[in-house]
Amino acid sequence: MGARIIDGKAIAADLRAKIAAEVRRLGAEHGLVPGLAVVLVGEDPASAAYVRSKSRHTVAAGMRSFDQRLPAGVPERELLALIGRLNADPAVHGILVQLPLPAQIDAKAVIAAIDPEKDVDGFHPLNAGRLAIGLPALVPCTPLGCIVLTKTVSPSLAGCEAVVVGRSNIVGRPLAQLLLAENATVTIAHSRTRQIPAVCRRADLLYVAAGRAEMVRGDWIKPGAIVIDVGQNRIAGPGGKPRLVGDVAFAEACEVAAAITPVPGGVGPMTIACLLANTVRAACALAGLAAPNVGTIS
Ligand code: NDP
Repeated sequence: MGARIIDGKAIAADLRAKIAAEVRRLGAEHGLVPGLAVVLVGEDPASAAYVRSKSRHTVAAGMRSFDQRLPAGVPERELLALIGRLNADPAVHGILVQLPLPAQIDAKAVIAAIDPEKDVDGFHPLNAGRLAIGLPALVPCTPLGCIVLTKTVSPSLAGCEAVVVGRSNIVGRPLAQLLLAENATVTIAHSRTRQIPAVCRRADLLYVAAGRAEMVRGDWIKPGAIVIDVGQNRIAGPGGKPRLVGDVAFAEACEVAAAITPVPGGVGPMTIACLLANTVRAACALAGLAAPNVGTIS
């Protein structure tokens, strides 16, 4: 076990403390209290737990949390009307709609209805487009967290060979854009990629967001690589007890990589910390203040 373990839990706690300090400053100097609205449709236990955790961290950072619960059968127009009210509410600076949404609701239409300036998930087409053409944007939280974690090991990513496994709008694509902005040379691999172990072996920086338990084996990894494991997969552990594992075979990877994120305790905690950072960023932008110096990557 030679790899350095990138402690996402500690790095996220440090970022949350910096955000709380920035929130105190904004309150004292400008009377500004950032507010985050999280919309949960239905009763999915995993989503409900995640929303509770977001609210708890929002309040702990000194911000306002506006939880909005709607029943699973809510018509799309009612959700859109709620988004409209949150867009118009000056106390709300960030709006997040917890995904996935029930089948009767078109998630694309809901995301497009969020004011792009309050789109703290960074999923609105305007923010995705801005990121793609190198303009300032609200950036999706998980990819942002991945870059922050990488930079704790390698402050400059310029010229690095980066491979991203996965091309979702939530993780893979925006992560590839952020790496390009950091001047890495980027390859995006996906389910149709041929010779994927060989593609991964090229990577100085390997990011895996495929949702396939322990897919990446030790011999897929270049010696000395930095490995960021986004995957969160629940598998049956000893005695049938559910166990959370990543997309990377952790013990094998530790023998080869220079540094690696664990699951749990790697990328996961960073996602919420980056959401708080995005909320502070949105609040400052909406108030016409300079961008805060928290959760920035370049
Ligand atoms: P999606 O299912 O939306 O995307 C998965 C991507 O992986 C797709 O692009 C797919 O390719 C690719 N893929 C699937 N199987 C393979 C394979 N065998 N070989 C190569 N590529 C493959 O998932 P998400 O991006 O939403 O999430 C990915 C993982 O990250 C999940 O485990 C999820 O739980 C986790 N996650 C963790 C977060 C955190 O906070 N830690 C936040 C968000 C996600 P194709 O496009 O060709 O289908």
